[in-house]
Amino acid sequence: MVDSAEKQRGYEAQLRDAGVRMTRPRRAILKILAETADHPDAMEIFRRAVALDDSISLSTVYRTMKLLEDKGAIQRHAFAGGPSRFEQADGAHHDHLIDIDTGNVIEFQSDRIEELQNEIAKSLGYDIVHHRLELYGRKRRKR
Ligand SMILES: [Zn+2]
Repeated sequence: MVDSAEKQRGYEAQLRDAGVRMTRPRRAILKILAETADHPDAMEIFRRAVALDDSISLSTVYRTMKLLEDKGAIQRHAFAGGPSRFEQADGAHHDHLIDIDTGNVIEFQSDRIEELQNEIAKSLGYDIVHHRLELYGRKRRKR
């Protein structure tokens, strides 16, 4: 597992390679991204970033996220019914369950689902290159 400081340096290197100047606000955003283990939206990243550096604007956050997404460093999720959420792109493959009442995003991984998807694709004459699976649910009430 890569630690967050190392991850932050990786993000910085990716942006520098893309010809992006490393500014203080950008560095703060990268620090937040490197430390986060959840799926924040741009507003949430902005809120966390401002706590580190109050000169950061929401548009800086959006531009930085776009750059990182273009470089493949982060993944954007367009879950239904809300703003785009972001997560680090280097994690192990997983799918998402979205709680429609709270907006919470729960990660899960199922070998059975992965196998079934491969079977289905194969029977249709395809190899899967990439997939996204999103479940939308409501927490069961305990009775
Ligand atoms: Zn995830």
